[in-house]
Amino acid sequence: MSIASNLDTIKSQLPERVKLVAISKFHPKEALMQAYNAGQRVFGESRVQELDEKAKELPSDIEWHLIGHLQTNKVKFIVPYIHTIQSVDSWKILTEINKHAQAVNRTIRCLLEIKIAQEDTKYGFSYDECREMLDNQNWSALQYIQIAGVMGMATLTDDEIQIRNEFKTLNSFYEELKDSYFSECSQFCEISMGMSHDYKIAIEEGATIVRVGTSIFGEREY
Ligand SMILES: *Cc1c(COP(=O)(O)O)cnc(C)c1O
Repeated sequence: MSIASNLDTIKSQLPERVKLVAISKFHPKEALMQAYNAGQRVFGESRVQELDEKAKELPSDIEWHLIGHLQTNKVKFIVPYIHTIQSVDSWKILTEINKHAQAVNRTIRCLLEIKIAQEDTKYGFSYDECREMLDNQNWSALQYIQIAGVMGMATLTDDEIQIRNEFKTLNSFYEELKDSYFSECSQFCEISMGMSHDYKIAIEEGATIVRVGTSIFGEREY
């Protein structure tokens, strides 16, 4: 199957409200251009250096999302062009993004990455860590970031019930945060969940963004 026909198939399954981020990590620029030429404009990468190289050479109307852990010393490289940082996992990185975004006078959309999987994952807020940050830190004073929602990754399992429950929990947590902290903020509107093997479940459970790599570009070669 070609990249263009893979995209067609996936897009035909997405409701209007759901944005498709094409996860292009480890794939060459030629593959991204095939998707671009088929009309795809939103791409996600997990590593800053790879993102940077691609962003420099590919068309400037691409909307870039970062989906992997961001180190503070790398923030300055991506703030001039990044659209959304989906992988905000600490107060420290949020303040760092704000600082560098101010320097280039941009506001950057950020999603709070939440640990929803049963398995041990390295990055992401626990529910309590996230509540604690929003309770205790003066995040509303950060003028160059826009907290636009939450992101999560389900456990890598064939158990659809477990995956569905994890997505349900993320959706409820999003609603809790919206009620508690963002009730006046219409820009807090995104639930990013669902990858190649589970995006259909994620859509049923309220995803507004799905992040699909393998089903578009094929298997990655590491
Ligand atoms: C790699 C990755 C994806 C895409 O995974 P596929 O299984 O290839 O669709 C989605 N989200 C995150 C956070 C990833 O790291």
